[in-house]
Amino acid sequence: MESVIGLVNRIQKACTVLGDYGDDRSLPTLWDSLPTIVVVGGQSSGKSSVLESMVGRDFLPRGSGEEIRPFCALFFAAAAAIVFDCWIVTRRPLVLQLYKTDQGQEEYAQFLHTGNKRYKDFSVVRREIEEETDRVTGKTKQISSLPINLSIYSPNVVNLTLIDLPGLTKVAVEGQPESIVREIENMVRSYVDKPNCIILAITPANQDVATSDAIKLAREVDPTGERTFGVLTKLDLMDRGTNALDVLDGRSYRLQHPWVGVVNRSQADINRNVDMIAARGREREFFATSPDYSHLASRMGSEYLAKLLSKQLEAVIKACIPGMMSLINKSIDDLEEELNHLGKPVAVDSGAQLYTILELCRAFDRIFKEHLDGGRPGGDRIYGVFDYQLPVALKKLPLDRHLSLQNVKKVVSEADGYQPHLIAPEQGYRRLIEGALNYFRGPAEASVDAVHFTLKELVRKSIGETKELKRFPTLQADIAAAAYEALERFRDDSKKTVLRMVDMESSYLTVDFFRKLPQEVEAGGNPAARTADRYTEGHFRRIASNVSSYVSMVSEMLRNNIPKAVVYCQVREAKQSLLDHFYVEVGKNEGEQLTRLLDEDPVLMKRREQCGRRLELCKAARNEIDSVLWAR
Ligand code: GDP
Ligand code: MG
Repeated sequence: MESVIGLVNRIQKACTVLGDYGDDRSLPTLWDSLPTIVVVGGQSSGKSSVLESMVGRDFLPRGSGEEIRPFCALFFAAAAAIVFDCWIVTRRPLVLQLYKTDQGQEEYAQFLHTGNKRYKDFSVVRREIEEETDRVTGKTKQISSLPINLSIYSPNVVNLTLIDLPGLTKVAVEGQPESIVREIENMVRSYVDKPNCIILAITPANQDVATSDAIKLAREVDPTGERTFGVLTKLDLMDRGTNALDVLDGRSYRLQHPWVGVVNRSQADINRNVDMIAARGREREFFATSPDYSHLASRMGSEYLAKLLSKQLEAVIKACIPGMMSLINKSIDDLEEELNHLGKPVAVDSGAQLYTILELCRAFDRIFKEHLDGGRPGGDRIYGVFDYQLPVALKKLPLDRHLSLQNVKKVVSEADGYQPHLIAPEQGYRRLIEGALNYFRGPAEASVDAVHFTLKELVRKSIGETKELKRFPTLQADIAAAAYEALERFRDDSKKTVLRMVDMESSYLTVDFFRKLPQEVEAGGNPAARTADRYTEGHFRRIASNVSSYVSMVSEMLRNNIPKAVVYCQVREAKQSLLDHFYVEVGKNEGEQLTRLLDEDPVLMKRREQCGRRLELCKAARNEIDSVLWAR
């Protein structure tokens, strides 16, 4: 069942390529659910050495070497067992994927970040790890959670994936920021907290297990010891006459899995360039010939450890597959839904951009029309203007005052001038009517304004309701501005029209109305009496009443016609050509200007891109799992 480890390796690589290493909580993550083996332990406990002996190669960066060692020794003496290393060498997670190849095949390594390049010289691998670490963390020696992915193809390995993390430390070393202690602990925790993580807890045998950083952490996150593998290093460095049997037999600290003891190369071996394969042989010999451990020899050593972990990893992966599959399916659903909500990315060519802009305009226009046509609320307020506000305003006009006896007399006399009227005060009538009609300008204009504000409000609402536009704040603002501008033009036109209607009423009076009035003067009678009557109150009251009923007739007509003019000039225009000007203007734009209009909120752009990549990852992972499941 080699394929399941390969499966996780492929998903793990895809995760790194597509930016999922579990540190962005706003996106669904696969990284967290991937079964892994994580190597934890204090500085210099032998983590890197264990990894290297499982690989059978040395390729991991080491502390800065000779010049720093003396200082290191000093530090050792001063700070006792607190600081084990002079310099934190591992500053990014190293995801180490081991692939067993056929005997006789040449060994090589590949980094994910260098593509297909094959590294056959493992000292170059070490240098590349160092350089790649610095590339991300800079020379400041910060740490970073962005993993380095290294694959090793070799006949001397078992299929296995391990993660090497910065060593737990208690104090920062000079030149490294204080915060690094916390940061490392958080990073290590983020790995070992995951229930699918197998913890490889490295403890040096020349240290008390009770004070082991690795065991302390493992106890916290895996109290039952189900997923912790205890590894005891430096068995060769124990004081003469002591042994580690209490630990190896599980008496010092009990774990579900048996402890494994290893002997790695000493610093002197490393300095002398002792070959890893030779070191493996020496380790085997150590256990076989040790009076204390020979009875345990079959379950000791790096090679045994590697096989044990490989088996365990396979078992964990198999158990995880159904859960991962459902997680992947759910993530795909969630991501697709979010992407749908975010909309398509903006096109780059002008034609497509123009098309997008017009589509967005139309979407807005559609919603605006729905408001007018009753599909959405608000259009009825226009009818409210015609049905209520206009009639009330017309009724409130001060016509009674204008047609009071006193005013009628005054206006008529002024119109008569030096020669009082003989039969009917033609000029007086005209002036009284003109004066009265003048009052109608107010309600006519007010109707136009009221409808204008209603339309404006509907534009504002519709802009807000055009969800597609939210992505494009600039275009949104431009469309709103264009619509308001158009409404202003419609208002001007509408005002001119209604005022003209009022003026038209004053400019030519309906003759028939007056012809049908009962004639005031009968033929015959005393001319003097007639003249006297012409200046009595009854005469003026009749004039007032005639003017009043004429004005009422006009008022009734305007009450009917002002709405027609307003609808014609404002509502109908808004429905038909609200954005016509804007279309013409946009049509003149090109390249840069169109891009400016579609300057989507960068936050959204980034989010879409992230969701897209994560979706790609989930789909790739689903295919991987599918292919493994079908191959079984
Ligand atoms: P890390 O900081 O946990 O990665 O520790 P390293 O693997 O770099 O080891 C630190 C030092 O301990 C190195 O000088 C190793 O040679 C030495 N060392 C590690 N394991 C053993 C061991 O089993 N026996 C001996 N003698 N030295 C060891
Ligand atoms: Mg190390």
